[in-house]
Amino acid sequence: MLEVTNVHKSFHGTEVLKGVDISVSKGDVIVILGPSGSGKTTLLRCMNFLERADQGEMDFDGLKLNLAKAHGKEVALVRKRTAFVFQNYNLFSNKTALENVTEGLIVGRGMPKSLALEKANKALMKVGLSDRRDYYPSKLSGGQQQRVGIARAIAVDPEIILFDEPTSALDPELIGEVLGIMKQLAREETTMVVVTHEMNFAQNVANQVVFMDGGVVVERGSPRDIFGNPKEERTKQFLRRIV
Ligand code: ATP
Repeated sequence: MLEVTNVHKSFHGTEVLKGVDISVSKGDVIVILGPSGSGKTTLLRCMNFLERADQGEMDFDGLKLNLAKAHGKEVALVRKRTAFVFQNYNLFSNKTALENVTEGLIVGRGMPKSLALEKANKALMKVGLSDRRDYYPSKLSGGQQQRVGIARAIAVDPEIILFDEPTSALDPELIGEVLGIMKQLAREETTMVVVTHEMNFAQNVANQVVFMDGGVVVERGSPRDIFGNPKEERTKQFLRRIV
């Protein structure tokens, strides 16, 4: 469905992605693990052009493009087919939960307001926030704000949702409600790529785990392989420290 190959990215002369490949099939839940600074977030951002790769190719169901050189129309096409959930929610503070969800539909996708409202209400219901739709972000808990972030992502009917450490800004007691929604999406066979440090989620929900370190993919496989029988020393060390 979506393949990115040989992704390179440097910041100020330091190469943080050194030729990464990732392949996503329909219905996949891929979790990207790795130590801080290994390039996980940068990879995810390059897949959605939030960050411009220096080199790399993408094949999105036959739409082939160069990650470094793709022009505006190609970028818009990829963005239209994907959605991104941010670590810090990235909600408009001066808009209600409902307006945060409709904004991208009306302004970003040119949808008539009535249809946008219908889709947004449905998405907010799915994340259990129908009763909070008129609240501003400052009146919502972190977990609720992230659920609005997820509602915003699902409202656009994306083919793939990219999650960038969706729970790492949350207090521990609020993490479960966000992971619960993500598990529900996985059960519904939503295609997801998730950068996270939540090992339980990786073990129990992912069908593929990708372990990155130092800007490369060190190892990838099923959760059973990666957690139960890692082959690479760097993976073993990481898991010893974290699990
Ligand atoms: P973490 O788990 O801590 O979020 P990560 O694996 O997601 O780490 P990245 O956020 O992709 O890692 O960062 C990889 C490296 O690139 C880090 O050294 C980071 O400081 C650097 N980096 C990321 N974004 C930028 C930027 N916009 N400008 C300069 N350096 C950056």
